[in-house]
Amino acid sequence: MKLIKYFVLLFLFLGCNDSDEVIEVDDELSQQEMEDLQFLKEEEKLARDVYLYSYDIFGQNIFKNISNSEQSHMNSVTVILDKYGIQDLSLEERGKFSNDVLQELYDDLTELSEKSLEDALIVGATVEDLDINDLNTFISNTDHLDIEDMYQKLNCGSRNHLRSYINNLDNLNGSYDPQFISVEEFDDIVYGSHEQCNN
Ligand code: ZN
Ligand code: ZN
Repeated sequence: MKLIKYFVLLFLFLGCNDSDEVIEVDDELSQQEMEDLQFLKEEEKLARDVYLYSYDIFGQNIFKNISNSEQSHMNSVTVILDKYGIQDLSLEERGKFSNDVLQELYDDLTELSEKSLEDALIVGATVEDLDINDLNTFISNTDHLDIEDMYQKLNCGSRNHLRSYINNLDNLNGSYDPQFISVEEFDDIVYGSHEQCNN
């Protein structure tokens, strides 16, 4: 009798295990996740291209250094696009975007940047402010850890970039008020210290 009980329990135990194994991990990305990744690739390119534009005009290293970092952000997004077989919509040519909203934004921001070094730094802060805000949204839209890790790394880099632009603006007695993230988040970033982002 005891033996039969044991076998029944063993059967139930194995049966439960079997049914657990049937549940597969859903690796498919949602439409939203795919669109976020495609948009982000071009958004990182927008940052790179706007800073290269400012570097050509003002020759300040900050624009060159941060544009290099944006190139590495673009590469990080490309790795994820390739991994999930998502089409890369970004265009090779500098200052050109397949997304109309980003094209318009690039045109407006470069026009603003031309005015003065201070304006170019404000544009830099604006781009980082927007990036952080969008990345916060993208993070809440994904349930894939590898994608979230990449978003967090880019967000970390963007916070460092924002600090650099604000520091340089301070040196020119300029100022910037956040347009996308909250004042609380902005203050936390700007008064915080440089972060190590494992780039
Ligand atoms: Zn970036
Ligand atoms: Zn940045």
